[in-house]
Amino acid sequence: MKILVVGSGGREHAICWKIQENKNVNKIYCAPGNAGTELLEKVENVDLQGMEDILAFAEKEKIDLTMVGSEELLVAGIVDKFKEKGLKIFGPDSKAALLEGSKAYAKDFMKKYGVKTAAYEIFTDADKAKAYLDTINFPVVIKASGLAAGKGVLICADIKEGIEAVNDIMVDKKFSDAGNEVVIEEFLEGVEASILSITDSKQIVSFISAKDHKKIGEGDTGLNTGGMGVIAPNPYVTTEVYDHYIKDIVEPTLNGIKAEGLDFCGVIFFGLMINSRGVYLLEYNMRMGDPETQVVLPLLDSDFLDILNDTLQGTLDNDKIKWKDQSACCVVAASGGYPEAYNKGYEITGCETVEDIVFMAGVKKEDEKFVTSGGRVLNVVALGKDLDDAKKNAYNSIEKIKFDKMYYRRDIGKIN
Ligand code: ATP
Repeated sequence: MKILVVGSGGREHAICWKIQENKNVNKIYCAPGNAGTELLEKVENVDLQGMEDILAFAEKEKIDLTMVGSEELLVAGIVDKFKEKGLKIFGPDSKAALLEGSKAYAKDFMKKYGVKTAAYEIFTDADKAKAYLDTINFPVVIKASGLAAGKGVLICADIKEGIEAVNDIMVDKKFSDAGNEVVIEEFLEGVEASILSITDSKQIVSFISAKDHKKIGEGDTGLNTGGMGVIAPNPYVTTEVYDHYIKDIVEPTLNGIKAEGLDFCGVIFFGLMINSRGVYLLEYNMRMGDPETQVVLPLLDSDFLDILNDTLQGTLDNDKIKWKDQSACCVVAASGGYPEAYNKGYEITGCETVEDIVFMAGVKKEDEKFVTSGGRVLNVVALGKDLDDAKKNAYNSIEKIKFDKMYYRRDIGKIN
């Protein structure tokens, strides 16, 4: 079988790494991939630019299955185009991808089908949004409705910050058209959890839970990032929390998918807030999470490609999916300065001495050396018999890796 994985991050490295286990796979193309995917035995990086290029490549190479890592191409309709050509692809069509691509659509969907979520209002007019801010209590969360690479969500402590946020998003168009519409939402206290799931639109099968660490600074301080580390399973997802998640989030979501006639095979990833009032859905993502994928796939004790193919063939079976009885910890090494300005081009040493897994992201190869080429540079992922063990292993391993201005959080997986 020939597989095509689209993307260039640590997530795509993890997807290729896991899919490669399947003995029926002869070749995985990763477009464009990174220095890490290139190291994998069955992987060849291919430089494809945009949807038409990807489609033409898949047709020419007779790719058996394509998987797209990031949201932009899914929202732009890559799955629809593949299906038109009769090519197999795992992911939502453009209609289902709106659950991620439009926060306004997603919130209305949640409300319509009784998915537990924060109270909200939607505005397409900046003056009306500002007038509304005058009538409510703070803090609130103001979100650009469209895709903004995780940066379009602003937590506002008071009316001044609220007005600034509306101006930034709707008037100054900081996130361009993603800010034509805003969602103003009740602020929820609590702890977050991510649960990756897979659906064939008839059932939703959830994977092991994870806990991301989005802030750059220790103790969850400073700016938001693409994710500085993650652990799995998430210790806050107790049996009781899980039961609430199934009843208040998964079941009504599945009812909604059926009632709206959404018909796709793909990932549905739930971003949750857990507090004393229950489990709330913050957002749907319609693709694998980064860095959640980097801990979830190493814990998966079943064949990932078989799960994807079963889903596409209508034979998805939760009982066939096995998990290792272990914990995983992923620590992200970033370029100093990230998520603001940072320098690139520093040599990375020590990766080959690490016994745990290194998934690369912002790394390229130059004259046989690895050099930094992005903000989040690489992910060190370790398993352990429990969370403490996994953390210890991950931190022992990351200490062996060095590059100039390397930064990582030392409190990934710290439980308060
Ligand atoms: P990403 O792409 O990083 O997943 P996103 O831009 O799609 O993020 P959300 O996941 O909706 O946006 O929000 C980002 C973060 O903002 C959440 O992980 C959470 O920390 C915070 N957040 C969002 N909504 C709320 C809320 N109602 N109450 C408190 N915090 C919230």
